[in-house]
Amino acid sequence: MTQMHSDGDHIGAPMASLGPMVPVVSPRAADTDPRQDILGLAREDLRMALLAIGVPDRQANMRAKQIWQWVYHRGVTDFEAMSNVAKDVRARLTEHFRISRPEIVDAQYSSDGTRKYLLRFGDGTEAEAVYIPDEDRGTLCISSQVGCTLNCRFCHTGTMKLVRNLTPGEIVAQMMVARDDLGEWPASTDNRRVTNIVMMGMGEPLYNFDHVKKALQIVMDKEGIQLSRRRITLSTAGVVPMMLRCGQEIGVNLAVSLHAVNNETRDEIVPLNRKYRLEQLMEACAAYPGTHNARRITFEYVMLKGVNDSDADARDLVRLLTRYKLPAKVNLIPFNPWPGSPYECSDWDRIERFSDLVFKAGISAPIRTPRGRDIMAACGQLKSTSEKKRKSETLREQAALAQI
Ligand code: SAH
Repeated sequence: MTQMHSDGDHIGAPMASLGPMVPVVSPRAADTDPRQDILGLAREDLRMALLAIGVPDRQANMRAKQIWQWVYHRGVTDFEAMSNVAKDVRARLTEHFRISRPEIVDAQYSSDGTRKYLLRFGDGTEAEAVYIPDEDRGTLCISSQVGCTLNCRFCHTGTMKLVRNLTPGEIVAQMMVARDDLGEWPASTDNRRVTNIVMMGMGEPLYNFDHVKKALQIVMDKEGIQLSRRRITLSTAGVVPMMLRCGQEIGVNLAVSLHAVNNETRDEIVPLNRKYRLEQLMEACAAYPGTHNARRITFEYVMLKGVNDSDADARDLVRLLTRYKLPAKVNLIPFNPWPGSPYECSDWDRIERFSDLVFKAGISAPIRTPRGRDIMAACGQLKSTSEKKRKSETLREQAALAQI
């Protein structure tokens, strides 16, 4: 259990930025600030908002485009810095709008380069985003909800009480905060640190479809964050009725949290399976746009000792994927423990054997190296911990007082 103890660099808020510092708006200011936040606003909605503050019709389109470029290509949070926007328009923008960031309550840097951000939004709720650097890419794992309603037995996030959908602005903001911290401004193709996005943080993205769609449209827009849909992966535990729309309307890569190859086991560990059965889920995968053009679906499979990790499970997995003719890749995720978790991770040789069996059947089944375990940033470990921290801070203060 040593990985449970944080031995990563720990940086308290306000965080030390490694890149150019973009001012962070405090949540108190955000709370009482009546101005509309334009982060996360669709370009057309921004255009309408500009018209509403008196920007002439013939200018509105161009202004919206200019503002987007300042916001999403340069990370600007102050309208006054938008030098190609007329002075009087800048003043009006400042009067009516703002471009804010959530407060970074805590940023932790793992010894393996992973960075975890705990963010607090205007209403005081919190969510986490995780940056995972690799040799050839940098992946940002983004949350779609505060907490999660799914209660998968092995997932820490499911133990959170509070759940609410994040707004498009709050989803996009996770990307902006990471880019602020990584010094990605001004953005150009050769200084990209966040090259990929996975909707695999807290929450079920397909239960917050409209907001996730709006946010990803900004991420994919050329005038926006400009990431190709091929570099974005949305992960679902299997909200079957929304999967087709996800493919048609967002068009990103799909990952499915499978974790079990029969209804009995899946009912137990992914309770959503009681609503949408394994067969329905696999049919929805087969119907996902692009699947027949060999666009691969990623299946996530968490390795739980004695639960889903036998040779028979591996063979059933192959059979299942073959039966539905799915171009698939299986990501085997060693179970990441969290305080009080009811399962254990499968032994390493068991995971390797499982992986081999699937590989031998012609299906790629790499074992995903856990990242950021030391800062509790690995899959399924996310849970806003500030409550806990406040408590431990109090204890520390009490201990310090006792020593006087
Ligand atoms: N709700 C979506 C998005 C969350 S993705 C979904 O379920 O797909 C988070 C991924 O981490 C999921 O595949 C989830 O099953 C996996 N996960 C959750 N808890 C884990 C744990 N303790 N160890 C390893 N993986 C875990």
